[in-house]
Amino acid sequence: MHRTRATLHKEAFATATGVRFGGEVTLRLAPAEIGEGIVLERTDLGARWPLDLEHSAAGPGCSTSGEGEAAVHFVEHLLAALWARGVSDCVVSVNGREIPLFDGSVRPVLALIDAAGVARSQEPQQPLVIEQPLLSSDEERAVCALPGRPTSYAYALSYQHPMIGRQFASFHPDSDDFDAQLAAARTFITIEEAEQAQKAGLLAAGSEENCIVIHRDRVSQPPELPGAYARHKLVDMIGDLYLLGRPLVGHFFGFYTGHQQNHGIAREILRWCGGE
Ligand SMILES: [Zn+2]
Repeated sequence: MHRTRATLHKEAFATATGVRFGGEVTLRLAPAEIGEGIVLERTDLGARWPLDLEHSAAGPGCSTSGEGEAAVHFVEHLLAALWARGVSDCVVSVNGREIPLFDGSVRPVLALIDAAGVARSQEPQQPLVIEQPLLSSDEERAVCALPGRPTSYAYALSYQHPMIGRQFASFHPDSDDFDAQLAAARTFITIEEAEQAQKAGLLAAGSEENCIVIHRDRVSQPPELPGAYARHKLVDMIGDLYLLGRPLVGHFFGFYTGHQQNHGIAREILRWCGGE
């Protein structure tokens, strides 16, 4: 994995539909000073803040960053893409309340980062090292962080749904290929969840372009990879954990977890683990 801090060579931007609140949203990535961290900016409000754990929360079906009306939804895929490319310092701007979901995978954001180019410094990145077992759970979901190296991430899910069932995915950053194994795994939503989200005003403009819609007896588009839903949840977990802004050393295992537990384990890691 990348062990030195990095920013971008130049700016890159893309415009797409905001699935949650509607309208067009432009996502812009720009270079930052090395050491500045990842900064999130609402250009329509003139507000900016660190895109980190302290300024973020688990929202409805996504992670959000920022306070109240300024909050930006869907920061997790962007964070996973920045993590995958080892970008530690950059300015992320949006002119609305959400990061575009694009096709629901990380690929479009990776393409944006690659268009901007990664500028790696000599400045070392201080990893957070898991030194004791940590757990964040409720009655049916759990995520744990365990000591050990090389670092690994794994995720298992179990849905009482004929088109989903049980799936497992794992990823080893030192030896696996993020682009081949995780980048194509798209967001998925059951038709029931989609209808609920629409009623709750949380899906103003989403379509089958933005995610895989799972009906009782079919899916809107068959996933490209086996275990694709577990792979996508792994992307979400990796993205949420990058709110810590540092590489992690340890084993991370999520079972049926969502953003709530991901934020919980990130807070535990911040509380209990140090650098090396
Ligand atoms: Zn996701």
